[in-house]
Amino acid sequence: MKGDMGADPEAWENPAHSRATPTSRPSPVELLLQVGVSLHAALMVDSHGRIVWMDPVLAGAAGWRSGSPVGRSAAEVLGGLPWLWRGLEEALTGTDGLCEDGGGEQRLRAVVVPVFGEDGTQLGACARLRMSELPRPEAAGDSQALCAGAVEERRAREHLEHQTSLLRATFDSITDGVIVVDLARRITAFNKRFQEMWGLTDAMLEDRDAEKALASVESRVTAPGRFIAFIRQGFEPSFAPRSSIVELRDGRVLECKSIPQLLGDAVIGRIWSYRDVTAERKALAEQARLLAAEHEARERLEESFAVLDTFLNHAPVALGFIGRNLRYLLGNDALAAIHGGRRGEESGRTVREMTPQMAPIIEPLMRQVLEEGTPIIGLNMTGEVPSSPGEQRHWNVSYYPVRTASGTILGVGAVVADITAEYRAQSERDRLLREAQEAIRVRDDFMSVAAHEMKTPLTPLKLHLQMLKGQADAGHVVAPRHVDKALAQLTRLSVLVNDLLDTSRIQAGKMEFAREPTSLRELILEVLSVFRGTSSLHSLGFEAPDEPLVVMGDRARLAQVLTNLVENALKYSPTGGAVRVTARRMGTEVCVSVKDEGIGIPKEEQAHLFERFFRARNAPISGFGGLGLGLYISRDIIERHGGRIWVESEVEHGSTFHFVLPCL
Ligand code: ADP
Repeated sequence: MKGDMGADPEAWENPAHSRATPTSRPSPVELLLQVGVSLHAALMVDSHGRIVWMDPVLAGAAGWRSGSPVGRSAAEVLGGLPWLWRGLEEALTGTDGLCEDGGGEQRLRAVVVPVFGEDGTQLGACARLRMSELPRPEAAGDSQALCAGAVEERRAREHLEHQTSLLRATFDSITDGVIVVDLARRITAFNKRFQEMWGLTDAMLEDRDAEKALASVESRVTAPGRFIAFIRQGFEPSFAPRSSIVELRDGRVLECKSIPQLLGDAVIGRIWSYRDVTAERKALAEQARLLAAEHEARERLEESFAVLDTFLNHAPVALGFIGRNLRYLLGNDALAAIHGGRRGEESGRTVREMTPQMAPIIEPLMRQVLEEGTPIIGLNMTGEVPSSPGEQRHWNVSYYPVRTASGTILGVGAVVADITAEYRAQSERDRLLREAQEAIRVRDDFMSVAAHEMKTPLTPLKLHLQMLKGQADAGHVVAPRHVDKALAQLTRLSVLVNDLLDTSRIQAGKMEFAREPTSLRELILEVLSVFRGTSSLHSLGFEAPDEPLVVMGDRARLAQVLTNLVENALKYSPTGGAVRVTARRMGTEVCVSVKDEGIGIPKEEQAHLFERFFRARNAPISGFGGLGLGLYISRDIIERHGGRIWVESEVEHGSTFHFVLPCL
């Protein structure tokens, strides 16, 4: 061997040392390996003749059975193939060579070439083997072939050196940490990133011992047992790619992948790459956490919505949420009922579309809430809605501003309670109360009027009776005028009492009639005859066709009606005037009218004239007594005879009372 073969033993003994920086040149051993690989060499030896790599088949063929031949002397390992050792020895002197085995049908031929570094130093030699059955070539031919082969090999080597430097730079610049371990568990290559990732110094890797390196990182992983088992499995020759996740105690997570290192078809070791996936994992974990949180939030939201929905729809009042554009966003069943539709139909539709009649009232109120941000609470409203056309309904309404957490007003919350039933009940109660109060007032009025009316005839009656007694006591002849006047007062009293009795009979439904064919013409004349001469202020007139105008009726009761009407005509014409009674046939009926020129009756009171105890407000002013029973009794008598009674009157212009009865 040449003296410079061992020129750089450090490079072999401590190849890591030669790669202090990622851009440093490959070690002699690495260069040898790279050249050998490119030549498909079955055997590589360094400049000292120590095996750098050897095809296991070749090792077997050489009779080597003592484990990995790497690092051993080629002379020792190639004991069974001395011709090959001789070829190598030749090559280690810097000469290309060709050697082959000596006998047998199949010949084993090897091309052995020296490998030089860039500085011209010989790094070692490689042998490429080939089986051949061809006849052995002539010596001269061999020599020419060897020369051609040497030129070719040099070109290849130069090309490879260039490629190698590129690969080395690439190897050191990649972000994954990479380590290559051979079958003897020796570290054949690693990059800077691998060192950084595992915190391995050059000194720690100096021995190139994979087990030692493994021991020094064992404490850094969270599950050392599993990690070591995984790595050791990879030390066994296998074609299968492997991968695993390694968690470090400092929180980092590394993704580990390993693939076999092949030489030809043979596995010569394993390439391990580590990628720091901590950030990726954290991002994934964070993403999963966010997804879970979002899922949870969505579920909470859905729960809240379900609860809200239940509350909304079982609320006894109508609830709605209206956006700033006065369009409904949400409403419950009760609100839909007011709108005359189904829940959800109002969504997106305007207040005006849903309640056109109420919109002119509602819209300004909602706008006020949106602008001022203050609620309007407990407003009573009356109106019509589509669900009950033509019907006035009543609501108690509140509008609230609905705000975001930051205070922005999103819309209006409406709470509408239908109080129609309560309102109507209250109205009915009010009406009944008013009626009761009116009845009490009427009764009180009646009591005082009745007392007054009863008392009025008693005073003159007492006076006339006292005078009669005085005349009788004195032995004088009793004056008939006192008797007549006393009797007149008695008649007046009995009329009052009879009216009261008739009223209670009518109330009890016990008024009885003795019907008979009765000529109204005759009856009117009879009644008028009673009044003739009773008033000097009035003129009494009668007008009727010649026919008798017969009706089926109670003569006395019909006379009572006529008497009451004529009496009233005289009574309510205090300044006198004509009182005219007419009777005429109208189809199948007879119509009797009593007309006067008296005080008349206010229009608005005419409808109540025939009610019990009713007296027009101008009657007492005129100073005329009365209980307000005569017309009430008259109406009952006429209606019980199948007729009708009514009045036409104008204040200060007299009155005309008409009644009709079916004619026989
Ligand atoms: P009374 O005359 O005893 O008050 P009525 O029942 O006969 O009771 O009449 C009821 C009321 O009708 C009277 O109080 C009076 O106000 C009004 N009235 C009846 N007849 C006339 C009339 N001819 N002219 C004006 N008012 C009348």
